[in-house]
Amino acid sequence: MSQYDYDLFTIGGGSGGVRAARFAGQAGARVGLAESGDLGGTCVNVGCIPKKLMSYSAHYHSDFSDAAGYGWRLDAQPGFDWNTLIANKDREIAHLNDIYKRLLDGANVALHRGFATVEDAHTVSVDGRRFTARHILVATGGHPERPDIPGKELGITSDDFFHLTALPKRAVVLGGGYIAVELASILNGLGSEVTLVYRGERLLRTMDADLGAFLADEMAKKGIRLVFKANIEAVEAVDAAQAGEHAAKTVRLSNGEALQAECVLFATGRRPTTSRLGLEKAGVALEKNGAIKVNGNFESSVPSILAVGDVIDRVALTPVALAEAMAVVSRLFGNGERMMSYQNIPTAVFSHPNIGTVGLSEEQARKEVGEVKIFKTEFKPLKHTLSRNTERTFMKLVVDAGSDRVLGVHMVGGEAGEIVQGFAVALQCGATKAQFDMTIGIHPTSAEEFVTMRTPVA
Ligand SMILES: Cc1cc2nc3c(=O)[nH]c(=O)nc-3n(C[C@H](O)[C@H](O)[C@H](O)COP(=O)(O)OP(=O)(O)OC[C@H]3O[C@@H](n4cnc5c(N)ncnc54)[C@H](O)[C@@H]3O)c2cc1C
Repeated sequence: MSQYDYDLFTIGGGSGGVRAARFAGQAGARVGLAESGDLGGTCVNVGCIPKKLMSYSAHYHSDFSDAAGYGWRLDAQPGFDWNTLIANKDREIAHLNDIYKRLLDGANVALHRGFATVEDAHTVSVDGRRFTARHILVATGGHPERPDIPGKELGITSDDFFHLTALPKRAVVLGGGYIAVELASILNGLGSEVTLVYRGERLLRTMDADLGAFLADEMAKKGIRLVFKANIEAVEAVDAAQAGEHAAKTVRLSNGEALQAECVLFATGRRPTTSRLGLEKAGVALEKNGAIKVNGNFESSVPSILAVGDVIDRVALTPVALAEAMAVVSRLFGNGERMMSYQNIPTAVFSHPNIGTVGLSEEQARKEVGEVKIFKTEFKPLKHTLSRNTERTFMKLVVDAGSDRVLGVHMVGGEAGEIVQGFAVALQCGATKAQFDMTIGIHPTSAEEFVTMRTPVA
């Protein structure tokens, strides 16, 4: 009989925690998992899934007007009902919460509902109940932060966005990262008047510079007002007697402007969730921002305490948390063949239009590789000839001039995430530009442009 209650105890039932617990359970380990909120974590409840569902909803706005050019007559003005969308979204999420529970049950994982803290290298306490484990895996994710400005409590974060009780008439979104542009696009598509305020000079500053610049133009064409090089200095209630999420607020910007909006959404950053976990007392070293420091095996400074996902602040994406969890389980309970690679992680931004990107940006490639060839194209997709929609598509390849390897594939346009996923496999296999050129295109698609760009522009 083992000296511990469990072989693995996972704190957090989000993407990383559930994946690790499930696969460890399936491998025969005795597994416990603590979750203080809803199963599925950020991605299922207040991240990827509700966001994508709401993005689909927001796309209907342009789909209805595109339809006219294709001969469809909409005799009545299409109307949108926020409560229907939110209720249907909530029902789907409740369904996913159940699926996660069944997955854990199916792998014999003992679920402990409640807030977990770490007591020592092998002990966890969940709302006062103590459990011992050979390995403790911290997968507590991250949470959004509000800027420290007067009136910050009058604004909301992405967590609150998914539970608004009505579509705001006017919204100010603060931030230039992917969450800011996605939520701004959703609000715009659903009919809010949106201003996006960002202290930087271009959107999505960690990605290839062309993507953020192209997206900004497209978002502006759709009616989103973009205010760069400005910050929100204060949020004030217009009428002090009126409070609540629907009340009008005055938003004071650092450039002297004062905007009026019912909704002020802060999308300015996320922080790893480690406070109140007892980690430092247990000897676990943290980064300045609270992230757990881990080695290549995801072990913290206390080797029996491991961590994966947003809480280690490497690449905050669901598939990355899943892959890190698989690497941990494979090493602890399997044959160790699943390793984590951070090379060529593809990602999408579900702004309108979408972005899909994998590999190096032009800026990174010039720094890391030196001489590169750049191929770019920009065009009106076939669909928008008859629709008369002015949205354009942008594609870019970054190629190593020496080896001919394709280092980066970038796109702004319809279904960019769906298209770039396949090209990520090609990059993972080390495909060269010559191999891209040898590939026959699928006609007529936008994606075929990626294999027909012949002349470098730089
Ligand atoms: C608005 C938004 C959109 C996003 N869109 C995408 C996207 O399109 N694609 C993508 O790949 N990624 C997206 N992400 C990121 C993705 O959601 C995260 O990278 C992913 O959820 C991280 O998984 P995790 O397991 O590390 O943490 P989480 O999924 O956050 O899970 C952590 C869990 O731990 C629980 N917990 C915390 N502390 C305790 C405790 N002490 N005791 C018990 N339980 C605890 C929490 O309740 C939570 O359920 C998005 C994120 C946001 C906010």
